[in-house]
Amino acid sequence: MAPITQSRTHLRTCPLCEAVCGLELTLDADDHVVAVRGDQNDPFSNGFLCPKGASFGQLDEDPDRVTEPLVRDRATDTWRRVSWDDAFDYIAEQFPAVVAEYGKQSAGAYLGNPNAHTVAGMLYVPMLLRALGTKNIFSATTADQMPKQVASGLMFGDPMAVPVPDLDRTDYLLMLGANPLESNGSLCTAPNFPGRLKALRRRGGRLVVVDPRVTRTAKIADEHLFIQPGSDAYLLFGIVHTLFAEHLLDLRIEATGLDELRAAAAPFDPPTVAARTGIPASTIERLARELAAAPTAAVYARIGTCTAEFGTITQWLVDAINALTGNLDSPGGAMFATAAALGIVRTKPFRTGRWTSRVRALPEAMGELPVATLADEILTPGEGRIRALVTVAGNPVLSAPSGARLDTALAQLDFMVSVDRYVNETTRHADVILPPPRPTQSPHYDFALLRFAVRNYARYSRPLVPLGDRPSEAAVVARLAAALTGAPHSAADGADPMAAADELVIMGLLQKMQLADRRDELLGEDTTEQRIDLMLRIGPYGDWNGGTLNLRTLLDNPHGIDLGPLQPRLPDVLLTTSARVDLAPQQLLDDVSRLRSQLTTVAPEMVLIGRRQLRSNNSWMHNIEPLMGGSNRCTLQINPADVARLGLGDRAVVKSAAGTLTVALEPTETIMPGVVSLPHGWGHSQLTHTVARAHAGVNANVLTDDSVLDVPSGNAVFNGVPITLVPA
Ligand code: SF4
Repeated sequence: MAPITQSRTHLRTCPLCEAVCGLELTLDADDHVVAVRGDQNDPFSNGFLCPKGASFGQLDEDPDRVTEPLVRDRATDTWRRVSWDDAFDYIAEQFPAVVAEYGKQSAGAYLGNPNAHTVAGMLYVPMLLRALGTKNIFSATTADQMPKQVASGLMFGDPMAVPVPDLDRTDYLLMLGANPLESNGSLCTAPNFPGRLKALRRRGGRLVVVDPRVTRTAKIADEHLFIQPGSDAYLLFGIVHTLFAEHLLDLRIEATGLDELRAAAAPFDPPTVAARTGIPASTIERLARELAAAPTAAVYARIGTCTAEFGTITQWLVDAINALTGNLDSPGGAMFATAAALGIVRTKPFRTGRWTSRVRALPEAMGELPVATLADEILTPGEGRIRALVTVAGNPVLSAPSGARLDTALAQLDFMVSVDRYVNETTRHADVILPPPRPTQSPHYDFALLRFAVRNYARYSRPLVPLGDRPSEAAVVARLAAALTGAPHSAADGADPMAAADELVIMGLLQKMQLADRRDELLGEDTTEQRIDLMLRIGPYGDWNGGTLNLRTLLDNPHGIDLGPLQPRLPDVLLTTSARVDLAPQQLLDDVSRLRSQLTTVAPEMVLIGRRQLRSNNSWMHNIEPLMGGSNRCTLQINPADVARLGLGDRAVVKSAAGTLTVALEPTETIMPGVVSLPHGWGHSQLTHTVARAHAGVNANVLTDDSVLDVPSGNAVFNGVPITLVPA
């Protein structure tokens, strides 16, 4: 008779996307996740679960993941398993030697998107970057949302002050370049985004979607408008122009730059921008009137508009329109969340360009250089050339522009170390791979994402599965930070880099707040939890700040705590020198001439855009069998009229300035003529990715061009890429 095994149920936050849904996991006696449900009692997600969340168990224990440190023999290009101590010893021997020979700037780092979802990524990776002391920091931010953060930084003084649409109360939502029915939301944390949009319509609200494709989101909207890729800034300037011209302003906040904004919008009257956008002037004027007339309204624009040539101007105009129509910082409009855990306390107004990249002199933003110039910095000889690289949870060969060039560059590094769960197209170049534990073995708190939530909320999840004799993800990052500088990094040396780092942060914060005598009151099983407790206690709802929240409160409420609807937060969130919202930052006004210069440019005959897929998330979820299939395919969507016009068959050769690909075609009327769409994150080639390799697809970033950027933010351009198509 088989032994009776006992299962147990645990609650935790889904770490897979920005929607932060509550999960109810069933684990068997051997700690395997055997069932996943949405947590019905989570006050924010109310039981919502998408296919990715439902596959959490398979992802947690993907048999193809790396489970022990690996060291690569460069001569044979083979991997061998080593102990944790040996891995860190090897790093401590190799990495500091490169830096000693070539200087601090010969080190670089790349951080992937999953860092935004982990405690280790948010609390310990910054310490790793400080240890490196290099200005060569790159991340997925400049392949994604940097335009929004630069626009927010310049308008509000703080790049993390990002207004989100007040989804649950708005009467009118104008959405550009976003497809939350596939992505589940981005820079707008909203579990069950689809349900929230349907509720908007049920209560009589109006949803207008602007996109070069009839996306799944567009299909549930009241109105969908096709737009020429990359022309969102023209549309929004047309709306701003109309608001001024028709005296539709309802500015309710303290702001500077109104006259400058009016002047900047003057050349972009709707009849002029109509040809560039493909949207009739009368429609642009109507949108402006509808936004002004709605009791409450919000404009929201996401990745399709950020990863375009005028991404930052677009993001600026989104919030300029929200402000001009009386909807910025107002219920039902675009509002700022109040996150429970105190984040980085900034004291100076945001600015970019405090240093520039070595090769192309591109300005930094938020302490990062554009990922589009990472290959330049590795390949170009000279002082400061990157020779030693650290990557954490990233696969830029598939997710950054000109991926093939970056692949070539990584092969030329003197030393590379990756913290990653897979041998992938990027980490295959590493000398050492340090695997993180299973997600169920890590604590979870959303430090970043809850700053962009549509409702104030907090939830903490402890690890569910013991670590055994392997280090936690935080300990891996902390030990790596020590090893990179040759500092003591193992217990054998009497070192505990994680605890030492935590103590430094905790005492520094306590002393700053004049609370040093309360160190012993901090709750938590380890120093990581004590840090979280401190951030909660001195945060806006904290029990050391007049509220009630601390780690104990969250542990006692494992479904999460609803902290209420968004509240007006101006002027408290502002860090501008004027202490007002800047409606016309000079740096963005300076970029308007670039926009004007392309006002009459004729669109290329064919352009490429990306697309989001419900069962996919960038490059790292294609090895999960239950997620493969259905619409999760790497095909080039194309209008049937273009197939016929170009005489194409099932496949086509796509050429851009950067490269050439042969792709499978998916003819569909849902994409506008002259535009083709290819999802990114595909092109898997590694033998160890058994599932992903069987569904390899092609790397869209062979086609994207790392020489084209959104100038103010340095963001890569993935949408509106000129291409040609010929039969395969
Ligand atoms: S929507 Fe995102 S957070 Fe929610 S279950 Fe799916 S992957 Fe997880």
